[in-house]
Amino acid sequence: MNCKLCSALFQEFLENSLSEELIVEVQEHIRTCSKCRVSFRTYTVTVTLSRKVDPPCSVSPETLDRLRKVIRENFPKSHGAVV
Ligand SMILES: [Zn+2]
Repeated sequence: MNCKLCSALFQEFLENSLSEELIVEVQEHIRTCSKCRVSFRTYTVTVTLSRKVDPPCSVSPETLDRLRKVIRENFPKSHGAVV
């Protein structure tokens, strides 16, 4: 396991789509490599955050626009930056 391969497997690791063997290898590499430990943490946080802010697919663009408008009108300080 090297850094390049390890970081390439982050996504699949989080999606639990790796084989048992690769999971062990990724975990082992993250444990021993501080560089990958940091980037894995960053990656996890990014994925978690983007999942949180991603609108559910059932929301149409029109609804989102209306939502943004309502937020802008009610929370003028945010300038709509929250969505
Ligand atoms: Zn590494």
